[in-house]
Amino acid sequence: MIDFSANKINRRTFIENLFVLMCKTGLLLLFKPFSSTALAREKPQTKKTPALESEFEPAYLKFHKTGELKKRADELWSIMENCKLCPRECGVNRLKGMKGFCRTPGSKLVISSFHPHFGEERPLVGVGGSGTIFFTHCNLRCVFCQNWEISHLGRGTERDIEELAEMMLQLQKIGCHNINVVTPTHYSPHILKAVDIACAKGLRLPIVYNTSGWERVEILKILDGIVDIYLPDFKYWDSTMSKKYSSGAETYPEKTKEAILEMHRQVGVAKPDKNGIMKRGLMIRHLVMPNDISGSEKVMEWIAENLPKDTYVNIMAQYNPQYKAFDYPELSRRITRAEYKRVVEKAQKLGLTNLDIQGFWWLD
Ligand code: SF4
Repeated sequence: MIDFSANKINRRTFIENLFVLMCKTGLLLLFKPFSSTALAREKPQTKKTPALESEFEPAYLKFHKTGELKKRADELWSIMENCKLCPRECGVNRLKGMKGFCRTPGSKLVISSFHPHFGEERPLVGVGGSGTIFFTHCNLRCVFCQNWEISHLGRGTERDIEELAEMMLQLQKIGCHNINVVTPTHYSPHILKAVDIACAKGLRLPIVYNTSGWERVEILKILDGIVDIYLPDFKYWDSTMSKKYSSGAETYPEKTKEAILEMHRQVGVAKPDKNGIMKRGLMIRHLVMPNDISGSEKVMEWIAENLPKDTYVNIMAQYNPQYKAFDYPELSRRITRAEYKRVVEKAQKLGLTNLDIQGFWWLD
């Protein structure tokens, strides 16, 4: 049953609940492209969608043709036997059904939702939306997570890899500009296998690797030549903060810095095409948090010192307390206009030229 009694219901939860209600009442037939049963019936894409009209070729196409994509997917898959897909390095045998810190049920695939998303960065959204696929569970599990029902509580539906491939093709068919895999790290083997299947059926959109940033460089190297757009967070500067608010992830700052440098090495500075749509490159997100928990000015300094000045940086103002944030007084409020402005001015002073600065008129 859908619980409409909850006092707080965010936009994503509302959309998901609506989706479930439509499934149950049959109204989903009006939106055939989103339905699982429709997915199975759909023929592979033959018609060019607006998003495909350019001459763009995704990085993975070459590896698909040579068989390298399948090889890389198999390599990642075998890592689940002694799982070290992320910096937790649990070492559990997911191939035998064991769960590690992320709580992923072994090698099974659980997905919360997939749909065009119009709330992502403008160069990803364009006119057709970013084709987001929200994966269930998380290896970081921040106390303030906005998607806590998915990441902490495990809301989602078990799917197989063929279904994931069909989701990608559906998102392409309805005109999305990219395939945006959200919280992908613990499902990276499944994603690569699905891309290989979908590519054989005509998938040509860039893959957006939408991650917390807390990644192992060794795993990122396996993704080299497959991912076109990296979209990492850079959440914290201080390891005591990441330890406290992200389930003991003390290595977050160190690992994320290494990971961002590797991502930049692979895809370079993000540059939109002539239509303003991003096809390749590194796009960093930084969420400004109250009481400088994120160490924002230090983060900007590091970016300015270690990456080109035209690196894309989205300075996000939308923090709002969710889930267990109210257990921490310092996290229990939005940021102020002054807090946001200080970070933006610092970034500008450092010479960063490719800043995505949101309207923040609504801040106090
Ligand atoms: S992906 Fe999950 S099981 Fe594997 S190392 Fe990370 S937290 Fe542990």
